[in-house]
Amino acid sequence: MHNYYTKTLLELPYFETINLPTFYEKKKISIQEINGKVTKEVNKICKCCGGTLHLHSKERVKLKHFAGCNVLIKINVSYERYKCYRCNNIVKQEIPFKIKNHFITKLYASQIKNLLIKGNMTNKAIANVMSCNATMVKQIDKDRLKAKYKDLKPTHYSRYIGVDEFSLHKNHVYATVVADLETGEVLYLEKGNKAQQLHNFFDLVGNNFMKRVKSISMDMNASYSKAVLDRYPNIDITYDKFHIIKRYNDTVISETRKEEQNRLIQEIEEAKNNRDKEKLKLLTNEYKLFKNSRFTLLSNRSTLEAKDKAAKEHNRYLYETYEKKGLSIPSNERKYSTKWIDIARKTNIEALDKFSNMLERRMYGIVTIAKHNISNGRVEGINNLIKTIRRQAYGYRDQEYFFLKIWDASRRYSHSKSHRKTGWTLKKAALLAAIFYYSEREGFEPSVPLPVQILSRDPDSATLASLQFSG
Ligand SMILES: [Zn+2]
Repeated sequence: MHNYYTKTLLELPYFETINLPTFYEKKKISIQEINGKVTKEVNKICKCCGGTLHLHSKERVKLKHFAGCNVLIKINVSYERYKCYRCNNIVKQEIPFKIKNHFITKLYASQIKNLLIKGNMTNKAIANVMSCNATMVKQIDKDRLKAKYKDLKPTHYSRYIGVDEFSLHKNHVYATVVADLETGEVLYLEKGNKAQQLHNFFDLVGNNFMKRVKSISMDMNASYSKAVLDRYPNIDITYDKFHIIKRYNDTVISETRKEEQNRLIQEIEEAKNNRDKEKLKLLTNEYKLFKNSRFTLLSNRSTLEAKDKAAKEHNRYLYETYEKKGLSIPSNERKYSTKWIDIARKTNIEALDKFSNMLERRMYGIVTIAKHNISNGRVEGINNLIKTIRRQAYGYRDQEYFFLKIWDASRRYSHSKSHRKTGWTLKKAALLAAIFYYSEREGFEPSVPLPVQILSRDPDSATLASLQFSG
């Protein structure tokens, strides 16, 4: 009659019930305990010396077996221990349905694994559902991931890779992430954010991998470029275009905007004092326009991308003519960029001058934007993923586990859709906005055609990204 339980869904091999189950409630969870013994035969010959094993003691172990809907089923397993009197070797009766290192059955472990695979619950939430502690969930998860990704090495070749840093802890400890820009898969993770980390990545993947890499994308301020220049000078470095624009926004635009704003405020004050109503009206208007231009001039990546998309539609005609002309973008890129620098120099704006010097120094990694049309956006996406993972686990203290989670997540959400088609190249980029602004103000005539879209006062179409050359 007790064997009823071994014939249900909860069937356990080599388990025989011996008493009626007991029921009780603990912390609002209904607990059912099934009592029984394990029936697996023990080989009575000692593996160490060939002597005979004798029954030594009877033991009991409580295993969690099934959880759900505020019900927890535990099984109370009796098992035997045998001893060899000749060599003192002790052998436990095997419990075939128990998981190693945890007091749970295989069924219970698979319940946890299923919840982990779904990937939409934190370890704490899983522990809550399963009436166990989060540490065990973490250990099961870590073992699962270690078995899944035996060594954290790329499994295929990559054409375009990106490298970036991310913060490991709150106290300014950084790590390096290398990712495939086309699949979004993380290829390498290591504590530290120096050129050495990229060297270590090169060592790990080897020359066979690296000779297939066409370009490596990175931020300008990172120290990774040195490793590439030292080791693989034939691989193009591509500086992230959004990062270049951000630098431009943070230095040139912000600085000059501040100066300009102060000038206007001062002149408005003067006009007020002189009771020059006509001038005051003009200046106030200028000030308003100036204020409104901020959104156009300073935007983050996502707004830039969104605006860029809209602008591309807007500029389809221009875009298509450009394509029809069959102009080779890569060969023109340097020409346009250096032309831009010449113009920038003529404006005599200090911030712009500094920026131009930087552009010139970094030109090798800027012209390649047009050649490969890649950005580090994918790696930045991974950086956001990393933040989410860290938040979910309230800060992973176990670095190995943290890296496994990142590795897994990048594969879970990765898709092969190319991320290279972000659309626009440097010469269409934001860098011209200030030129336009200052050339107009100073009555200075640039020698290249001015971008078309900036002339529009519509903030949605007059975007940085929509700036176009006409030839
Ligand atoms: Zn023995």
